[in-house]
Amino acid sequence: KPHIFLPHLEKVDKSYIMVKPDGVQRGLVGEIISRFEKKGFKLTGLKLFQCPKELAEEHYKDLKSKPFFPKLIDYITSGPVVCMAWEGVGVVASARKLIGATNPLQAEPGTIRGDLAVQTGRNVVHGSDSPENGEREIALWFKEGEICEWSPAQTPWLME
Ligand code: UDP
Ligand code: MG
Repeated sequence: KPHIFLPHLEKVDKSYIMVKPDGVQRGLVGEIISRFEKKGFKLTGLKLFQCPKELAEEHYKDLKSKPFFPKLIDYITSGPVVCMAWEGVGVVASARKLIGATNPLQAEPGTIRGDLAVQTGRNVVHGSDSPENGEREIALWFKEGEICEWSPAQTPWLME
């Protein structure tokens, strides 16, 4: 029975997850990828990338009026980031829980920010806040041909 490939019966979401420059510099890339991988989500895109200023501004355009916006753009462009596209049922909401609160001191232990960070301005990881933004951000950060559609062998062992 587990060998039969089961088509998705529920809607699959997409989330754009990014290890920010501090996460890359601190050697946390593997640790962060591992948490999403072990949870059971499907990785469909992955690259190390130096983000240009224009892209950072577009990605965070909703925060343009905030006082911390210039510092946020400097932070995100301060070194390479690791861009990821993840797919799965409920991946957007689940990834937000795995990541934890924006302020790492308020993030629960067991979350990425709760375990690995102390300041909002150095909170190591980004995760899309809605399925719509997940689609928008993946289209923004990845070019055509950089997203890989595949069927993980574990799928029937993860979902009944
Ligand atoms: N940020 C900041 N100061 C703040 C709020 C946010 O530097 O007071 C940064 C922080 O890196 C955060 C990012 O801006 O992750 C985006 O803010 P958002 O409110 O969308 O938080 P997130 O969705 O990342 O938890
Ligand atoms: Mg956000």
